[in-house]
Amino acid sequence: MRDPSIELRLRRALEGTGHRFTKQRAAVYRYLADTDVHPTADEVYLAVRQDLTGISLAAVYKSLETLVGCGLAVKLTYGDGSARYDGQTDPHHHARCLACGLVVDIDGKIADSEIEGLRARAAAFTVTGFRLELSGYCATCVPEGGPNPIHA
Ligand code: ZN
Ligand code: MN
Repeated sequence: MRDPSIELRLRRALEGTGHRFTKQRAAVYRYLADTDVHPTADEVYLAVRQDLTGISLAAVYKSLETLVGCGLAVKLTYGDGSARYDGQTDPHHHARCLACGLVVDIDGKIADSEIEGLRARAAAFTVTGFRLELSGYCATCVPEGGPNPIHA
């Protein structure tokens, strides 16, 4: 593993949650920690098997779920049943293309007071987090003439 701090973080998180450090998990995490494309499991598999020939899609799935379980990755799920994985676990927001599924990071922060205002209205709900996603079309998929603004 090229970046020793990535390996150290992985070892600590795995061992702290009773998991073993394996080269499959390391390869999956190395890829995920180093990309901002929010890949699907299939995309992780295609990338990781370049390095680790013989790794199976099932092993990639299990590694991804283990990484999510020990807090090193976030699973982004969508209404159509698809899922993408994010190796950046610090709070940040996304924009997602409704046509091709592309997910990109958006810089910028919602003020804590805004979030608190919403939380206060969810009175009967114990809020543990939130997720903001802008939806629309990426530069490749934007419909000709432009989409209907703010409706998705
Ligand atoms: Zn698109
Ligand atoms: Mn992200």
